[in-house]
Amino acid sequence: MRVLVASRNEKKLKELNRVLDNAGVTGIELVSLRDVAEYPETPETGADFVDNARIKTADGVRHSGLVTIADDSGISVDELRGMPGVLSARWSGVHGDDAANNRLLLGQLSDTPDERRGAHYVSVCVMELPQEIAVAAGMDTVNVAEGRWEGRIAREEQGVGGFGYDPLFLPDEEPGKSVAQLSAERKDELSHRGKALAKLVPLLERLSRLETA
Ligand code: IMP
Repeated sequence: MRVLVASRNEKKLKELNRVLDNAGVTGIELVSLRDVAEYPETPETGADFVDNARIKTADGVRHSGLVTIADDSGISVDELRGMPGVLSARWSGVHGDDAANNRLLLGQLSDTPDERRGAHYVSVCVMELPQEIAVAAGMDTVNVAEGRWEGRIAREEQGVGGFGYDPLFLPDEEPGKSVAQLSAERKDELSHRGKALAKLVPLLERLSRLETA
């Protein structure tokens, strides 16, 4: 069965492919927005991660007719009462300016002591099924999976790998190291996105069986 990953980020497609391979799921062909006819995308103006992911899956199902997976993610900082949250990508005011976002976050926490520097990454992955497939599979049309990754915010940037807030995020499992200092494989093992995607695996497996039945 063809499944649309509603993203242009090839890394996300590859990550989900790795998760499916590791779980031994065959019979699911993942395609990205580059592989389907172009369609107008609704702006991501949702109030939370679920809303934003659902905006993308609803577009995908409506325009491609395929089972569609989309994720929305961000970082939630305890001292900022859970912000930046859905505003993570544009926290400094410019969408996708990672360096400015990190500078602003460091400045905001400059007087915050170590014991109050807790934070977590969140990823919400939604898989939406066209009505007829949901009925045939006996599944819900909208399936939501959430993954979290707990850690702390460093006092300065560490490492050059990863993207976004990775140089500032010190995961609990790797004391003293930022995500930007981990291998891609280690990040996959631990990450919020990996955990959310893993929760979709049993559902994808069920869908793969549906077509071969
Ligand atoms: P999106 O879900 O791709 O829209 O990502 C939202 C934003 O959250 C990104 O631009 C980053 O600022 C932040 N973010 C989400 N996941 C990660 C991660 O794994 N590492 C670093 N930053 C992340």
